[in-house]
Amino acid sequence: MSLVVMKFGGTSVEDPAAIGRTAAIVAGRVASGKTPVVVVSAMSKVTDQLLRAAAAASQGDRTGALAISSRLRCRHRDTAAALVKGPGAAALIAWIDEKFDSLDEVLRGLAAILELTPRISDLIVSYGERTSSRIIAAAFSERGIDSAHVDARDIVITDSTYQKAVPQDALLDKRAAEKLRPLVAEGKVPVMGGFIGSNEAGITTTLGRGGSDFTGALIGGALQADAIEIWTDVDGIMTTDPRVCPEALRVKVISFEEAAELAYFGAKVLHPATILPAVKKNIPVLVLNSRNPGNEGTRIISLAPHCKSPFKSIAVKKKLSIIDVVASRMLMTHGYLSEIFAIFDKHQCPVDMVSTSEVSVSLTVDSNDKLPAIAADLSLHADVKYEGKKALICLVGEDIRGQNGMAAQVFGAIRHINVRMISQGASEINMSFMIEEEDADEAVRALHAAFFQNPDPAIFDVEARKLAAEPAK
Ligand code: ASP
Ligand code: MG
Repeated sequence: MSLVVMKFGGTSVEDPAAIGRTAAIVAGRVASGKTPVVVVSAMSKVTDQLLRAAAAASQGDRTGALAISSRLRCRHRDTAAALVKGPGAAALIAWIDEKFDSLDEVLRGLAAILELTPRISDLIVSYGERTSSRIIAAAFSERGIDSAHVDARDIVITDSTYQKAVPQDALLDKRAAEKLRPLVAEGKVPVMGGFIGSNEAGITTTLGRGGSDFTGALIGGALQADAIEIWTDVDGIMTTDPRVCPEALRVKVISFEEAAELAYFGAKVLHPATILPAVKKNIPVLVLNSRNPGNEGTRIISLAPHCKSPFKSIAVKKKLSIIDVVASRMLMTHGYLSEIFAIFDKHQCPVDMVSTSEVSVSLTVDSNDKLPAIAADLSLHADVKYEGKKALICLVGEDIRGQNGMAAQVFGAIRHINVRMISQGASEINMSFMIEEEDADEAVRALHAAFFQNPDPAIFDVEARKLAAEPAK
């Protein structure tokens, strides 16, 4: 038996057509002898809208909050009605109404007490995954998949850190063994919501935004799955952004560490921290496209296979600022850097890259409206200049380690571009540097041309490039 946890994100369940595609993908897995356990997100944008309803209610805008809830009720009712027509259709609609009635009650209460606590916020957003999972389970059944809806809150037991709850592994393993295993053994396909859980007292919690991938990995880990599939709306991790560089290739296989570096530098496919439970147990994770299910996606594994090209991918982070702090009065004295960092800390501003010399420190941060205040605080200690419209280019690959002449090749490829700051070494698998934002696209194209000329076919999808190069028949 090959057990596979299949997690579908918001865009893969956004409307009846998407849910239909998702059902066909799951049915295909069942037909090929796999045993799926399905984890789903809320329908796309629903979590944001629920948070907006909560915010409106807590500011006393009862009507506004209830209007958002009413639109969500209609969207879920319409989706259910389009997907489920056989027996059970009326009960499903009645169930949805009951859920939205209880949500409305929470929103009215909130509009009276005018205080949104993290606990109430988690309760309100939980309606997204609770309803999507129930509708999807019913749609699966109607399409001949023997499915069973499972309330994720009975399985994902967490602590009480609302909005970022920490799963309690031993309890979660126990619940998965008690509640999911028997369903799987009976040949049923369990369908549960991602992102939500509950503490031991049964109070609803959430794992943090984007937490459904995390649920997928947790369930995969608890059930010792053979694979975890993260279904999204892109073909997987690419060598760079195909909108900037049409020659970009799909990366077939990447290490967990490499994927983590890419995510930090802005690649949005998935947040690798969330798949750590799977990686720790050596369960491969696949990123797949529910709009293009025939594509084999990207496989994320714990140890990278050897690759003939030094880099796997080039990421770009734009809208950054450089802050130069020149210690003209105090030079580099003991405790000086900690004073500087304390100022960033006070303004809750994370720093991306740091570079120091005897008399100055340069730091890069996301451009934000706190910069003038930060600069004002810093200027009590030193002369400060800051400049926006910068971009960080980050090359990631396990094989940068120990390769001679790599920096020369990288900077040779972009010799026509002015480089402001360089960093290598914080992680052995990334090399990054800062340039003007307006040069970023050109730098990416030049680097891609230099390093992905003869891509290793074991690692990159070179077939797609060959197909594109062939004249259309
Ligand atoms: N629905 C949640 C969110 O939008 C969780 C997820 O989709 O991963 O953050
Ligand atoms: Mg997501």
